[in-house]
Amino acid sequence: MGISKVKQRLVKQAGYINGQWCQANSANTITVYNPATGDELGQVPDMGPEETQAAIDAAHTALASWREVTPKERARLLRRWFELVLEHQEDLAHLMTLEQGKPLFETRGEVLYGASYIEWYAEEGKRAYGKTFATPSNDKRALSMSQPIGVVAAITPWNFPNAMITRKVAPALAAGCTVVLKPSEETPYSALALMALAEQAGIPAGVINMITSRQAAVVGKVLTDDSRVRKLSFTGSTRVGKLLYSQSADTVKKLSLELGGNAPFIVFDDADLDAAVAGAVISKFRNAGQTCVCANRILVQDGIYDAFVSRFKDAVEQLVVGNGFDDATTLGPVINQAAIDKIAGLVDTAQSQGAKLITGGHRHHAGALFFAPTILANVTQDMEIAQQEIFGPVAPVIRFSDDAEAIAMANDTPYGLAAYFYTEKHSRIWKVAEALEFGMVGINECILSNEIAPFGGVKESGQGREGSSLGLDDYMETKYLCMGGI
Ligand code: ADP
Repeated sequence: MGISKVKQRLVKQAGYINGQWCQANSANTITVYNPATGDELGQVPDMGPEETQAAIDAAHTALASWREVTPKERARLLRRWFELVLEHQEDLAHLMTLEQGKPLFETRGEVLYGASYIEWYAEEGKRAYGKTFATPSNDKRALSMSQPIGVVAAITPWNFPNAMITRKVAPALAAGCTVVLKPSEETPYSALALMALAEQAGIPAGVINMITSRQAAVVGKVLTDDSRVRKLSFTGSTRVGKLLYSQSADTVKKLSLELGGNAPFIVFDDADLDAAVAGAVISKFRNAGQTCVCANRILVQDGIYDAFVSRFKDAVEQLVVGNGFDDATTLGPVINQAAIDKIAGLVDTAQSQGAKLITGGHRHHAGALFFAPTILANVTQDMEIAQQEIFGPVAPVIRFSDDAEAIAMANDTPYGLAAYFYTEKHSRIWKVAEALEFGMVGINECILSNEIAPFGGVKESGQGREGSSLGLDDYMETKYLCMGGI
């Protein structure tokens, strides 16, 4: 399975600036690898500050005309982009499995999920409403209108190489903004293929520009320092998010930050055990545990603890580790060497601190970046593995006795992205949902994210929302008009 199987017009090895496919000013390149095999997939340009500046220039120039294009026409172009993404689902999924590693059934799903944001914002962009207000005196009238914020910088991660792009770029374009995108250096091909389809859809030159670069800090600084960039939308680690937040202070940019999580997955005594086990497996092991909303700590009540661990073990041992192109595979590799070393280190440390290994616990023979699906029981909240975002196929299970303890443990983290709980009790549903300090709560449900709902976190997990009408608002400014002399 190689890149040659993908339609050649989708395989781009160049940046995309002002409607042109271009190489870096230097001869430097980024080599992209298949994490399942270690094979080299190809090379894309390693662009730097000058190319980033050129991309901002192009986005700034294009803004003047793009913001004047009617929302209906912008919607038509986005709709065309959406249709092209669907037409190329198989190629996009194939490219993504090659460079990111997750199984084909997951990458096919991500292409549809990513496309759903383009479709949604094609529709939603036509619904950017203003308001009128009752005025305090009769000689005035007051109203507000929504206008595009301006040039947007978007920086995206490797764990969802398609959808993290569409859920920023689609609302930005629908709102009338133009974009400079810097995708992760680990997964540029998925991003480039999306650009190729946007070009084919007829999205005008300069409206979306893309820099491929591994000089992330340098590119990030150029983007944040430029006062023409009015908004930064970032998905990635809390560490980098905080850095970009502080770098954006000088030019007072608007920010959308989707950062790390430490999601609790709480199973109460009265839960439907089958549903809770099935939910925990999906929430923890999808994308090899590399999503920011993955269950990071599984909190289980005393009365059901042993039964849960036993059933969870049976279910986890059914997972099939392997290359994402094998039909049977349900668990692929992690992204790189640093990731697998961190996961192995957390598992070792947890065991030395008293955690009990139930299954897995070791690197997997499928390849250098594969880790066996792992369950650790008797984990306590103070262990490193319960405090850090694991980002791998390892499930720490923690015991609790009552609701107050579960809520206190769940909230005992600087993060506040997603939380989940399983219970059949009506009153508990309300009380626990209200007490959890998280931006998203799954109740007897482990998959939260879709285009119609506001995705985002509180505390150090970030700010802003993606998806829903709120996702469009985040790319618009409110202008208040006060009319006198009436
Ligand atoms: P992850 O751990 O998921 O790789 P990162 O926060 O390191 O998360 O990366 C997310 C995105 O942020 C990637 O596109 C990466 O290149 C970019 N990035 C990393 N460091 C910086 C930085 N200092 N400034 C701007 N972008 C950065």
